[in-house]
Amino acid sequence: MKHFLNFIGGEFVATSKTFDNRAPADNRLLGRVHEAGAAEVDAAVRAARAALQGEWGRMSVGRRIELLHAVADEINRRFDDFLQAEMADTGKPHSLASHIDIPRGAANFKVFADIVKNVPTETFETATPDGGQALNYAIRSPLGVIGVVCPWNLPLLLMTWKVGPALACGNTVVVKPSEETPATATLLGEVMNAVGIPPGVYNVVHGFGPQSAGEFLTTHPGVDGITFTGETRTGEAIMAAAAKGVRPVSFELGGKNAGLVFADADFDKAVAGIARSAFENCGQVCLGTERVYVQRPIFERFVSALKARAEALKPGPSEEAGVNLGPLISREHQQKVLSYYQKARDEGATVVTGGGVPQMTGALAEGHWVQPTIWTGLPESAAVIREEIFGPCCHIAPFDTEEEAIALANATDYGLATTVWTENLGRAHRVARQVEVGICWINSWFLRDLRTAFGGAKASGIGREGGVHSLEFYTELRNVCIKL
Ligand code: NAD
Repeated sequence: MKHFLNFIGGEFVATSKTFDNRAPADNRLLGRVHEAGAAEVDAAVRAARAALQGEWGRMSVGRRIELLHAVADEINRRFDDFLQAEMADTGKPHSLASHIDIPRGAANFKVFADIVKNVPTETFETATPDGGQALNYAIRSPLGVIGVVCPWNLPLLLMTWKVGPALACGNTVVVKPSEETPATATLLGEVMNAVGIPPGVYNVVHGFGPQSAGEFLTTHPGVDGITFTGETRTGEAIMAAAAKGVRPVSFELGGKNAGLVFADADFDKAVAGIARSAFENCGQVCLGTERVYVQRPIFERFVSALKARAEALKPGPSEEAGVNLGPLISREHQQKVLSYYQKARDEGATVVTGGGVPQMTGALAEGHWVQPTIWTGLPESAAVIREEIFGPCCHIAPFDTEEEAIALANATDYGLATTVWTENLGRAHRVARQVEVGICWINSWFLRDLRTAFGGAKASGIGREGGVHSLEFYTELRNVCIKL
């Protein structure tokens, strides 16, 4: 039996309270997760503080950068271990985990190490009232001990997207992985020890949210800042916890993203792009498209083309050739998604395809599978158009004018991403300027450059990370003013 242990001060720590980690594909038991209580979380925060005050805190930037490159190299050397762990925990197809999750998980350490090495700070020469001069320059110091609370949909990628820049900036971290996906965060502890990251720089505490490791970590007064990716509702609870002690937060939250397809789009590319954005990772991507709006002249043709794409997806185990659709993360999430499938029917949707559970055989019949699903015909007030489902599904509605498309895209409390499909350059720029989101993709989706700003508008988040923007959260900028 495998045991997923906490990682505190460079050591793997067992606890007496454990919970099962099961594979979403077939519900088999993967191992027991050791839940951190308040005492273990406190030990992890203390270890992180001690590391800040020790060798790590005194280390030159150059040496820190070298070590973070070594972390990335070691993840790549153990690529298969990470791949197997991520596929078992999430059930995602090999093609996805091997091309996105693990390579990007490693890249997050190198890219942010290089950004920290290369980004200058500002200086100003200032005339003083006595006719003299002053010189102002800025220096960056680490924020301190960072609490990193992570979701389950891209476990290694989204965790390292926070841990990479946090460590590059000289902070220490206590990570709380999702209770659904404890494996790769634990494995990263072995990597940290192997390459010589000092004990206490990277810590992992396992458990749930309320009255468990998540709450213990975010309410701990020894945590200097909290970075969180997950549901908007959870963000509200964490923000309340962070208010005590006025600690900064960086939040990447939920979305209800629109895809806008204009009649002048490259039709085949638009269909392929929207299909990816709706169904990749079984729809469990914060940036995914659950609301599609298609200009009326191509509406019917687009609906049938997307239907064909949805029906061509092949569900199955991660390693099987040709499989490109995994399961949902848990039984609970499957029930949630299926409840929306039912709501859509109750509200009078036309079910273009899907709407249920695919026939899976053998052990897979125990997994958390759902069919890719497309609806049409619902009013904008319908639950499946208003609320984030986080499943492989979308509603498609027609529109007539550019203004109408923008208004529809913006008619939501969320503001994470939009994908726009048009061959008209002027229109692309006009729409990008008016959609109320953090990221607007034109003729693409999920095309990421780690140097660019990433984050959500409205209820989709607080702050931006990526490139130099990550430095804004993970460091304190201090201005030094010298009278010359
Ligand atoms: P979640 O909010 O349920 O859980 C995220 C993490 O928060 C988990 O580790 C959980 O244990 C912890 N948590 C829960 N309650 C807590 C509390 N009260 N205090 C402290 N910690 C607590 O989210 P999820 O279901 O794991 O992930 C799916 C959600 O994440 C979706 O809403 C999705 O849109 C969002 N997401 C957003 C982005 C982004 O970049 N904007 C990326 C990925 C996922």
